[in-house]
Amino acid sequence: MPLLVMKFGGTSVGDLARIANAAAKVKREVERGYDVIVIVSAMSGKTNELVGWVEQTSHLYDAREYDAVVASGENVTAGLMALRLQQMDVPARSWQGWQVPINTTSAHSSARFVDIPRANIDAKFAEGFKVAVVAGFQGVSHEGRITTLGRGGSDTTAVAFAAAFGAERCDIYTDVDGIYTTDPRISPKARRLDRIAYEEMLELASLGAKVLQTRSVELAMRYKVRLRVLSSFEDTDESSGTLVCAEEENMESKVVSGVAYSRDEAKLTLMSVEDRPGIAAAIFGPLASAGVNVDMIVQNISEKEVGGNSIAVTDMTFSCPVNQVARAQKALTDAAASGTITYDDLIVDTDVSKVSVVGIGMRSHAGVAAQMFSALSAENINIKVIGTSEIKISVLIDRKYMELAVQALHDTFALERA
Ligand code: ADP
Ligand code: ASP
Ligand code: MG
Repeated sequence: MPLLVMKFGGTSVGDLARIANAAAKVKREVERGYDVIVIVSAMSGKTNELVGWVEQTSHLYDAREYDAVVASGENVTAGLMALRLQQMDVPARSWQGWQVPINTTSAHSSARFVDIPRANIDAKFAEGFKVAVVAGFQGVSHEGRITTLGRGGSDTTAVAFAAAFGAERCDIYTDVDGIYTTDPRISPKARRLDRIAYEEMLELASLGAKVLQTRSVELAMRYKVRLRVLSSFEDTDESSGTLVCAEEENMESKVVSGVAYSRDEAKLTLMSVEDRPGIAAAIFGPLASAGVNVDMIVQNISEKEVGGNSIAVTDMTFSCPVNQVARAQKALTDAAASGTITYDDLIVDTDVSKVSVVGIGMRSHAGVAAQMFSALSAENINIKVIGTSEIKISVLIDRKYMELAVQALHDTFALERA
C-alpha cells in the first residue's frame, strides 16, 4: 500500500470540531488508497499550559518529569483522533511514543531520534488497520523514560516517520496555507511560495520562522522526504501548499527568497576583557556548559590605561535567547569569581530582535548586504550586530523596530513579486 504521513498542528486540532475536520481529510486519503500515519500535536495552548504548570510547581525542575507532563498533551489528541476516525468507519488506533516505540536519546526536552522500529505499526496495517495515529513531539529513552523533542517537535516526528516508513510524502497541515516569503502575520505583503529549497527552509527555520521545526527540515533534507506545508482549514489537493524540495526542483530563483525574525533575543557585552590567547574559550566554554545557546559574536579590540600603561583589551559582544540571560550572567560572574576571566562591566540589553534575509542566490550575487543595510538605514533603524553565512545575513536591532524592519526588507527585495 502506498503510505502518507499527515501531521496536524495545535490549531488544526484545537477543539473537537477541528479534530473531526482533520479526520475527514485523513479519511479522504484512505479512500484514495493510502495507508496513513497521522502525527498529532497537543490541542492549541495545551503545551504552554502544561509547561506553566511545571514551572509553577518547581523552579529548577527535574527534566524527566517536565517531559512526562508536557508529552501528555499529544496523548489526548491521539486518542481523540483515533476515536473520531473510528466513528467515521476508518479502522484506526492511537500510538504513544513508547508503544511504537519511538526510541530517542535521553536529552530530556531536546531529545533526538535513535530509531523507529516499524514492526508494531506494520503488523497493525497488515491486520487491516488503515490509520496509525501517533502522538507527536515525544519518545522514550533507553532508560524507559518519556522524552520530548523540543517545542514544535511534532514536525520532526512527522518527517522521521515519513523517512522510516518510506512515505510517498509528508504533509504538514497547519493554520497557514503554505510557506510564505515572511510570516504573513507580520507582513500583509507576504507571498506564498509554491516551492522552497531545503537549504533555504533550513535557514529560515533556524532563524526563527516557526512554520517548521528546524530539525524536521534537516531530517527531510537528509532522507530526501518530500515535505509539504498546507492548510488544514481549506479544501486541498495534490497541488496545494508549499513543497520543500531539492534546489534543482525549485524553479523560482530569486537572490533573496525570504525574511525571518526571532523576536526575543538578548545582547550581552563584556567590557574590557583581557586580550590574550584563550580568552574566547574562557568566556564561551562556561556559557556552553551552562546550556546557553550563543548565536552571534563580535569582538572589538581597544586599549585601556592601567597605571599609566596602555594594555590591549577587547569588548566581547554576543547574543542569546532572552530566556537564557540569567543563566549567561551566572556563568560569567562565576567565571569572574574563579579568576578565569576579568572584565570591567557586563552590559545586558534584553530588548533586541534578530531579522534575517535568506536566499540561495546570495552565493553568486554580491551587494545583498549593502542593499539590506541601506533599507534599514532609510527607516532609521540602527544595526547593533551583524552576522552572515553563505546564504543569509542577520542583524540584531531594537525590538520595537522588528516589524518595520521585516516589512522594509520584504519591500526592498521585492518579495511580493514572483
Ligand atoms: P502548528 O501549530 O500547526 O505547528 P505553528 O504555529 O508552529 O503551527 O506554525 C505556523 C505559523 O508559523 C503560522 O501561523 C505563521 O504565523 C508562522 N510563520 C512564521 N514564518 C512563516 C513563514 N515564512 N511562512 C508561513 N508561516 C510562517
Ligand atoms: N505541542 C508541542 C509544542 O507546542 C509540539 C508541537 O506542537 O509540535 O511545542
Ligand atoms: Mg509548529
